[in-house]
Amino acid sequence: MSSLGPGFGVPDDLADIAREHPALADALAHPLDRRRTLKLLAAALATGGLEGCDPGHTSRRLVSAVVAPTGIVPGEPDHYATAHVHDGYANGIVVTQMMGRPTKVEGNPLHPASLGATDALGQAAVLDFYDPDRSQGPTQNGTPVAWQQVNTMLAALRTRLAQTNGAGFRLLTGTVTSPTLAAAIDRVLARYPAARWHQWQPISRDAVRQGSALAYGRPVDCVPKLDRADVILAIDSDLLSSAPGHLAFARAFASRRNPTRTRMNRLYAVEPTPTLTGIGADHRFIATPAQLDGIVTALAGALLHGAPPTDPPPWLPHIIDDLRAHPGHTLIHIGPDQPAESHALVHAMNEALGARGATFDVLESVAHAPVDHAESMAALVSDMAAGRIETMLILDVNAVYGFPEFAAALPHVRTSIALTPMPDETAQAVTWNIPRLHDFETWSDARAFDGTATILQPQAMPLYGGRTAPALLSACIEPFTPAALDMVRDTWKQLGAVTAWHDALASGVVPGTASATADVRLRSAVAALRPPPRPARSLDLLIRPDPHLWDGRFANLSWLQELPRPLTKVVWDNPLLVSPAIARKLNLHNGDEVSVTADERHVALPVWVMPGQADDCVVALLGFGRRAAGETGSFVGVDVTPLRSASGAVALHPTGKRLVLASSEHHDPLDAVPADIMRHGTLAAFAAQPDFLKGEAEGGALYTREPSGPVAWGMSIDLNACIGCNACVVACQAENNIPVVGKDQVLREREMHWLRIDRQFAGPEDAPTVLLQPVLCMHCEQAPCEVVCPVGATVHDQEGLNLMVYNRCVGTRFCSNNCPYKVRRFNYHAYAKLEQRPPISRNPDVSVRGRGVMEKCTFCVQRIAEARIAADRDGVPEQAVTACQAACPTQAFTFGDMHAPDSEVAKRKQSPLDYVLLPEENTRPRVTYEARILNRNQALTA
Ligand code: SF4
Ligand code: SF4
Repeated sequence: MSSLGPGFGVPDDLADIAREHPALADALAHPLDRRRTLKLLAAALATGGLEGCDPGHTSRRLVSAVVAPTGIVPGEPDHYATAHVHDGYANGIVVTQMMGRPTKVEGNPLHPASLGATDALGQAAVLDFYDPDRSQGPTQNGTPVAWQQVNTMLAALRTRLAQTNGAGFRLLTGTVTSPTLAAAIDRVLARYPAARWHQWQPISRDAVRQGSALAYGRPVDCVPKLDRADVILAIDSDLLSSAPGHLAFARAFASRRNPTRTRMNRLYAVEPTPTLTGIGADHRFIATPAQLDGIVTALAGALLHGAPPTDPPPWLPHIIDDLRAHPGHTLIHIGPDQPAESHALVHAMNEALGARGATFDVLESVAHAPVDHAESMAALVSDMAAGRIETMLILDVNAVYGFPEFAAALPHVRTSIALTPMPDETAQAVTWNIPRLHDFETWSDARAFDGTATILQPQAMPLYGGRTAPALLSACIEPFTPAALDMVRDTWKQLGAVTAWHDALASGVVPGTASATADVRLRSAVAALRPPPRPARSLDLLIRPDPHLWDGRFANLSWLQELPRPLTKVVWDNPLLVSPAIARKLNLHNGDEVSVTADERHVALPVWVMPGQADDCVVALLGFGRRAAGETGSFVGVDVTPLRSASGAVALHPTGKRLVLASSEHHDPLDAVPADIMRHGTLAAFAAQPDFLKGEAEGGALYTREPSGPVAWGMSIDLNACIGCNACVVACQAENNIPVVGKDQVLREREMHWLRIDRQFAGPEDAPTVLLQPVLCMHCEQAPCEVVCPVGATVHDQEGLNLMVYNRCVGTRFCSNNCPYKVRRFNYHAYAKLEQRPPISRNPDVSVRGRGVMEKCTFCVQRIAEARIAADRDGVPEQAVTACQAACPTQAFTFGDMHAPDSEVAKRKQSPLDYVLLPEENTRPRVTYEARILNRNQALTA
């Protein structure tokens, strides 16, 4: 008998075990006898005793999940306020943590830039944090090195800087609003007076800065207050979706759009290519960049000099009349791509219309030491090329990708040091690359568009290790680098602004830090300014940021790559947007490749025909064609940065090739008349008969299925509020562990989004009206999917939810076939397993679906369950907020108990604009819409 017990250790068993576990074969060959067992036990006791003497023992002990660390309740989320910083400007967010790991981002309701909402980029911050392609250690000339070598290099740099007073030392940053970073930069410049600081942001706001300086004598921030404006004119401006503060602007704008609740404002937009602000306008006019100059001049002539415009477009006098008719209640806003002189003229016109203090404020600049970025970068590149730079420190600017001239001059710099979040193009080209800590891993601070400061708190221990920008600057001065927390605390102690540190951390807002009103007066000479003449061109090339990848920094985030662009619905590509007129002239169709030539530079791009774009105008999108963006984002689309500095004539030459572009445009078509699906009308018609869009009522039902539960969940979506920003789509994806599928699968119509923003063009393709509609599972009372499921995998619950029981689903897809709204998604390839993101990044309250299972919107049932538990525990009414609802900057979604007469959703469903999709199907959806109303100017429609 074996010493381990009866029946164990007989030769057959041993042979079996050895076969199954070869690593044990050797040990099993020498079965234990009593003597050997006692020897091993003695040794174990002895080593156990030694281990007890180890002073580091306690720190290495694993902590049982039963006894959670202080402050953590297993299974319950924690929430910490911080900020998502984009191009230097902060949007307040609250990060949801599960047992110490960040899983979801929400807006911070106390923060003036977010007001509780987020944009798509902010939602993707979690994915960015867990990105496995982030820089994981320092490198020298591309070879990994130890941190000790970095410290040695920094020590040598300190010595050299002290000897030369900073001569030959350059610092490159983007826009700086962080008080701690600003203080660190100032310290370096004060210590080494011969050093120089350059600023460059890939998406330029130079014209905005220069325009305010021309108008007021120095750079100031003109901040719109859209809720106060009755008439708004947006000139090539996308202030609702891309300006600093856009979430707050979108909220303010939408608060004046639904005529059942408010007096409507009126928005005019004039622009060369459709923006989200433009398509939300009551009247949208198309103009080339050159025509825009003429329009600004004509407007200025009329509003500043009282001169009637000569030869204006027919609509312009009506806009001028409308602006004049609302003194003190108008706002003109102009986009950053228009010249500084036009910006200055717009400031003058706003002042003339009595808008200052009423619909816009003039505040001190949020950016620290604002300069002209183009000039600053040009000076830097010139010094680089001339070999005048000994050492350059690049703080989180991917200039090698974004500025080809910089890349060409970089080899002339003796030592270049970059702090980068990714091993990106700049990281690979510099001498030393140092990983930058993610904002979720360290202490920092940043200001919002109105100057309000947020202290960024770490959300987790660093995943890979790295440095912060202030720490690296500090290392240029002294060997001992203070901790990030100490640096931030020091800054605020010196500013004397944080009296209640913990309150500032908890709320995500440092009270009293909003920018002061600037004491500046409009210069009288402004009225005489004119936009500078543009070279006469037969074709205009506009280079704009991609709405989701921006300047390319988000290229490795698959959620954003696969997020359909609001207007083209294209994913994983950046086609050249061409006007219908150009497409007709060159016989181009979507996907046809053209060579874009400018200043002897050639870039080949597929085209996409964009209705509503100015004739003879093409738009190239930045952010693609990255060479070192990580596994997901590299070599996706085409790099158009070589065309950025081209000043000569632009020409298009079809190459004869055809490329495959993935667009979700024609997926999930609803088989009905579009006008009935996206209902819309005018304010005049609404005033005559408020329920004029009600249309056909639903038919009667043979059987009624009133839910028996305490709550009847329902949703109302206001089409007057939706601006098509897509934040809700990414919020749903983040909340519900929705996988990405890749371009190839999107081409097969297999994208997995539970929520989509449908887009329709109505009217002529040269000047269409664009309509938007968020579409999700309608949670029908008479759900057509339920009656065809052979295994009862999709069923109703007592609160009226249409549920999916994943474990029952056998993948027949009958439900999807029978759904008239086409909102069900089938998992063809176990997509979650193919994703790069680590499992710990997912929401643990939502199951990760496997292959062969149908899925769709659940009304965020996990949030409903949480609300139910809270109601049971605290005796409060069940109140749940869905992820899409929470993210939406314009509050387009209202969710709640339809049967509670005082609930907001019940009130919205009483709106005369309320309607259901496809009433003829008689499905009795729980989701209804409020039809879109346009506040047309009668003079322009006559
Ligand atoms: Fe943006 Fe979605 Fe809200 Fe529309 S509904 S504004 S797309 S978040
Ligand atoms: Fe997605 Fe929840 Fe909105 Fe449904 S309710 S679309 S599951 S976020």
